[in-house]
Amino acid sequence: MKLGEIALKGLNRKAFEDVLLKNIRRRLQDAGDFSVSSRQSTIYVEPKDSAADLDLAEERVSKVFGVVGYARAGVCEKDLAAICQRAGEYLSEELETASTFKVECKRSDKQFPYKSPEVSAEVGHHLLEQFPNLRVNVHHPDVIVRVEVRERYAFVHGDTRPGAGGIPVGTGGKAAVLISGGLDSPVAAWMMAKRGVELTAVHFASPPYTSELAREKVRRLLRKVAEYAGRIRFVTVNLTRLQEEIRDKCPQELSTVILRRYMLRGAQRVAQEEGCSALVTGESLGQVASQTIQAIACTDAVATMPVFRPLIGADKSEIVKVAYQIGTYDISIEPYEDCCTIFTPKHPRTKPILHFVEEGEQAIDGEALLEEALAQMETEWVYPQ
Ligand code: ATP
Ligand code: MG
Repeated sequence: MKLGEIALKGLNRKAFEDVLLKNIRRRLQDAGDFSVSSRQSTIYVEPKDSAADLDLAEERVSKVFGVVGYARAGVCEKDLAAICQRAGEYLSEELETASTFKVECKRSDKQFPYKSPEVSAEVGHHLLEQFPNLRVNVHHPDVIVRVEVRERYAFVHGDTRPGAGGIPVGTGGKAAVLISGGLDSPVAAWMMAKRGVELTAVHFASPPYTSELAREKVRRLLRKVAEYAGRIRFVTVNLTRLQEEIRDKCPQELSTVILRRYMLRGAQRVAQEEGCSALVTGESLGQVASQTIQAIACTDAVATMPVFRPLIGADKSEIVKVAYQIGTYDISIEPYEDCCTIFTPKHPRTKPILHFVEEGEQAIDGEALLEEALAQMETEWVYPQ
């Protein structure tokens, strides 16, 4: 496995690598007994016995942020004949159907009696004999056979597959993501985790207007995100009374932005308690009435910590693409009610003015209601599937 941007981080590198190793080990826990170690910017995941589930391990590793690429490799003794034989065996499927190939060798064990070009040539000869369909093409081969001669063993593998990229979760601080059951916020959460951020998720529910099933939907979304982000702390805050008060007493056309301000205030309080130093939302400019620059400015006016909106410049189709890729799409489109939509006014103001929003908010004792809601918040851990 190749490490990503970690290689660029100079002095932090060791710390980054340690976090990455820890994350990989944790994700492999139920896939069997593996040894996970790192040497020269490469991480080795080796099964300790035949009970280890390699397919599951590969799937898990492909979702760990901080890995740019990985390959499954065949192992053999550091003996030229053994390497030749293993290469033919391990890559036989690819080599049988290819018409051209080349061999590349890397030798980190300088004691090994053959130099890299010699190993490549020898393995190449062997494969040409074994697979009469093959010709050598060093410029555009169908298959590249890679041989690595390391300290204890030699490895043979084909193409490297792309990893999840990004940087290891846990190296970028902690943030609280405002999570709904929609398409956008799980994608926003995933994007921040990709940049190394550990997540706490804050969800606002409004029972009985929203059901337990809606909350379970959020939980299932988080389970998907957790496959990349690791376990996520999940906090649910009941906002029913506050929403009812806003609906009954505040100017109708400003109710959306007022509710959003309370959500931000609430999430911020949770964030502080959970040791998070930023907030994340799934907003995308112009998508709905509350996502205009003016509305966002009114919402942000209550923020005392940075609010990240990784999707701000994304089109819906781009968001959908990521949602598909990370497996949240099918869950997100399930039709459960959301607390934002049930009280939506007919004509929300798309360009609210802060002064009027603040004035409109005076109609309720929002702080007390928020306090009450936060006192009853429910907290749990969500683990990857
Ligand atoms: P999403 O697809 O994430 O639901 P959206 O396009 O529906 O977003 P809004 O409903 O305006 O847009 O919500 C904007 C953002 O506010 C969401 O992306 C999310 O971060 C936050 N948010 C909305 N509803 C909730 C909720 N019930 N609990 C927590 N956060 C929420
Ligand atoms: Mg929504």
